[in-house]
Amino acid sequence: MQVAEIEQMDKRFVLPTYGRQNISITAGKNARLKDSEGKEYIDFTSGIGVVSIGHGNERLASALCNQVQHITHISNLYLIEPQALCAQKIVQNSGYDMQCFFANSGAEANEGAIKIARKYGEVDGEMKRYKIITLEHSFHGRTITALKATGQEAMHNYFGPFPDGFVYADTIDEIASLLDDHTVAVMIELVQGEGGVQPLDRQKVQQLAAMLRQKNILLIVDEVQTGVYRTGEFLASQLYDIEPDIITLAKGLGGGLPIGVVMTSKKEVFKAGDHGSTFGGNYLSTTAANVVLEVLHAYKESGILDEMMLYFESKVTACQREFPELFLESVGFGMMRGLRMHSADALANLINGSREEGLLVLKAGKNTLRFLPPLTITKDEIDEGFVRLKRAIDTL
Ligand SMILES: *Cc1c(COP(=O)(O)O)cnc(C)c1O
Repeated sequence: MQVAEIEQMDKRFVLPTYGRQNISITAGKNARLKDSEGKEYIDFTSGIGVVSIGHGNERLASALCNQVQHITHISNLYLIEPQALCAQKIVQNSGYDMQCFFANSGAEANEGAIKIARKYGEVDGEMKRYKIITLEHSFHGRTITALKATGQEAMHNYFGPFPDGFVYADTIDEIASLLDDHTVAVMIELVQGEGGVQPLDRQKVQQLAAMLRQKNILLIVDEVQTGVYRTGEFLASQLYDIEPDIITLAKGLGGGLPIGVVMTSKKEVFKAGDHGSTFGGNYLSTTAANVVLEVLHAYKESGILDEMMLYFESKVTACQREFPELFLESVGFGMMRGLRMHSADALANLINGSREEGLLVLKAGKNTLRFLPPLTITKDEIDEGFVRLKRAIDTL
């Protein structure tokens, strides 16, 4: 189909919730993409942090083909071998004494986390503690409750009434003063992704974790974007050297298949019937996740992941130094990087200009150019991407 035809059909039949760019990507190999008109791109987005082992991964393709030929879905009423294996891998990689529940997305994983916290706050069937504190500029998803947990007032227009019991702290420093007898949990991203690639201070996070532990208030870390090696360690929680009570994962875990996980050390909270999902953790999504976890574990062990992350960082910081009139500062960790820009208009122009030069990049917050490349991006692909970014800068 011609791009114009797809565009017309999309406008006619799909609800207009996205500000879409009118290209149609039809194939990819690692960090290189091709659209329906044969134009090539370098991918610094990985489908918003999802395609962690690159496009067109052959191991993933053959594992999925093989699985589909046997069984795709059977429901959680029966044992699912790849789900059990996936949970084992996640728990072992984390080093935490936890168990997993499988969902289908980040928002859904966070809903599970909130349900665990709320039930934990019950005493003898009575809701004693229910308040959950989240941060300003956070992003936790689009379902009604995850949206309410999201500390961005502008996103709360229209959809009320919302579930009660969410309180927003301006900064991590303000959290302590908001804790009261009704507080059951604090939920944070260690690096705010959608909010603008904003890492929290490591020492402050450690102090917060220690204080919460002392008060028996749960720490929920939303690792939907930071998890699965995005910041260099399997979990950003490991990078920050903390032990959360509940962690959520999603984006990079399935290599493109929809999957979400909530894992917790509070294994006794959920009883049979307290939570569930029709699709969650089915054969297909967990088979994909198992390939992703194997590929990335080996990649991390080999040292190449760390090497490429350092290389990517050096290119981002060099870019900031070369164009200080455009870029205020370089932010982020690992393969979760951003360039804070002086002007939001220049950012919009740069995203469009990059696409025209054959480079896909993202926006975060109001004025941050965001890079979330596949974790398996090669040196050549990184080099080519920055050549194209500079060409786009030259045409601004
Ligand atoms: C993307 C994201 C979500 C929402 O994930 P969905 O799969 O879109 O529901 C939640 N939390 C964080 C930190 C995210 O980056």
